Amino acid sequence: MSVLDLARPEIRTLQPYSSARMEAGGGQIMLNANESAWEPAGDVGLGCNRYPDPQPVALLQALASLYGVRREQLFVGRGSDEAIDLLVRAFCRAGQDAIVIQPPTFGMYAVGARIQDAGVIEVPLAEDFSLDISALLAAITPAVKLVFLCTPNNPSGKSISRVDVERVAQALAGRALLVVDEAYIEFSDQASVADLIEHYEHLAVLRTLSKAWALAGARIGSLIANPEVIGLIRRIMPPYPLPLPCVAAALAALSPSGQDAAREHIAIVREQRAVMRDALAGVAGVREVLPSDANFLAVRFDDAGAVYQRLLQAGIVVRDVRRYPKLQDALRITVGTPAENQRVLALLNSPAMDGRVFADGSA
Ligand SMILES: *Cc1c(COP(=O)(O)O)cnc(C)c1O
Repeated sequence: MSVLDLARPEIRTLQPYSSARMEAGGGQIMLNANESAWEPAGDVGLGCNRYPDPQPVALLQALASLYGVRREQLFVGRGSDEAIDLLVRAFCRAGQDAIVIQPPTFGMYAVGARIQDAGVIEVPLAEDFSLDISALLAAITPAVKLVFLCTPNNPSGKSISRVDVERVAQALAGRALLVVDEAYIEFSDQASVADLIEHYEHLAVLRTLSKAWALAGARIGSLIANPEVIGLIRRIMPPYPLPLPCVAAALAALSPSGQDAAREHIAIVREQRAVMRDALAGVAGVREVLPSDANFLAVRFDDAGAVYQRLLQAGIVVRDVRRYPKLQDALRITVGTPAENQRVLALLNSPAMDGRVFADGSA
């Protein structure tokens, strides 16, 4: 069997939209796409009057070498969010098929499934936020087409070991596509599992430039998978997903000097993560700081709501994750610059956090 047997049959046979740029490019006089012949005001040589390459070769090449894969094993879209959406649409029939997730985890898997009217089967993480492999495998029914693993996980920060990913991959062969979301892998000690796609045709890996590569605003995310899966996703992608300015920003970030800057910032985040973890553990009202392999810390407080408000009043916005299972007393705090982190600590250590009443009368 082929992994494509898991995909929606109507997608496999879909006649994709054939855009002008896909059909022909590279001429000297381009009169096939109803574009303007004139560059727009303020265009800095990008040529934004022309439709972009749907999958720009230079960007594919740069990302393929960064991730250690081949170009045909890569789809680049508008953030990994788009890849999640396209995977669900390609593999899950509305009203029939399902995905499996492990809460507490990233919200877009379930949202993507619900938009497609696919089922969402939840297999909670264990008490220590580790993967419950036997429960996960027990939840696999014929309706399940996609299993999402997030490592390091958002919002817990915990990683799944390569051995465990492989155990799940082995068990899912011929049954479901395993999608490993590595949005934060650059901040962890673990290596990507992208190389395993050579061994498992039903393994897919999500990577993004939004976190470690400082390009959240450019929306560049990658799906790494077997070329057959990539081919399927390219058939249903929007005609021109990647805006030229975003591609230019990504190429600059991936240049040698861009890579140096990214590595320097990753090192600072890793160091600051340890500093913050230690310091937060000593703050009054902090119950626990969860160990994290990502660029954030999930922190349990005696009164997370009050801490959230207190930070907000000081102009510091953190993520309230109390709606997630097992995190009902937690906030997720992104690691910022050393100065930003010090401000967080200074505020949390200031007297009002010891249960005293604030100037405005709130507690
Ligand atoms: C931030 C995040 C993403 C989204 O990445 P984009 O490439 O910006 O769409 C994907 N997965 C997880 C777990 C994230 O936290």
